[in-house]
Amino acid sequence: MTRRPGFPARLPAPGAPAPARPPAAAAAPQRTVPSGLGLDSHAVRARMVRKLAGQGVRDARVLAAMNAVDRHRFVDSALVNQAYEDTSLPIGLGQTISKPSVVARMIELLLAGRTDANGRLGRVLEVGTGCGYQAAVLSQVATEVYSIERLRALHERARENLRPLRLANLHLLFGDGMQGYAKGAPYAGIIAAAGGDAVPVQWTDQLAEGGRIVAPMVMPHGAQALVIVEKTAGRLNQSVLEGVHFVPLKSGIA
Ligand code: SAH
Repeated sequence: MTRRPGFPARLPAPGAPAPARPPAAAAAPQRTVPSGLGLDSHAVRARMVRKLAGQGVRDARVLAAMNAVDRHRFVDSALVNQAYEDTSLPIGLGQTISKPSVVARMIELLLAGRTDANGRLGRVLEVGTGCGYQAAVLSQVATEVYSIERLRALHERARENLRPLRLANLHLLFGDGMQGYAKGAPYAGIIAAAGGDAVPVQWTDQLAEGGRIVAPMVMPHGAQALVIVEKTAGRLNQSVLEGVHFVPLKSGIA
């Protein structure tokens, strides 16, 4: 990042009407598609954030975090012109960076759980660092983020992608996230970017009282859905939300 954006970024209040556009004749030609690595991505990212708000993302903390992270720095240079589209993109080794709307939705669900007096999440575990994009977004809304990846090449790539951002509260780990990461526990939130058949017991064990897990899970009929697991008074409560498409959660490292 050449210029570190302020946090929270200034955004219209959720639900506020979109700023009026100048009449077409008076409007300067608008550049809406980034065209290379040296792009000024501000306008396209702001447009992505407005679209997210239009799709129902209400939480200003999420919108500010999505506005603060340059998504184009996490994708292959050949895909840069799609970086701010609402689409998942390949990041190598058969894995994908999630759609911005899915990242925003999951972080919004995480933030709807318990936060501190400043509206920040405490410690968060992300399973599936991938290219590191979602980890960077999480670092804007949580006090500490532990992000674990099972593929060494992606773990290294995420490290490269994230280095210039100097996010002191983000810790990248190489290992099998199905085991969680006990050293960082207990977590206020656990978020998975890969879907398994069940929520591993290590995750629920490492979840703090009042904490939340947001994860894709394969349902009995074979399709994935987003699942929320909450721990209240030592009891686990699971809710199943909309259908999603994530890469599979796999055990072991490679
Ligand atoms: N959040 C990522 C999305 C990456 S895709 C991003 O913003 O780019 C999901 C990732 O989960 C893949 O990189 C895959 O290798 C990883 N993954 C799958 N099973 C895992 C496990 N048990 N532990 C850690 N990472 C895992």
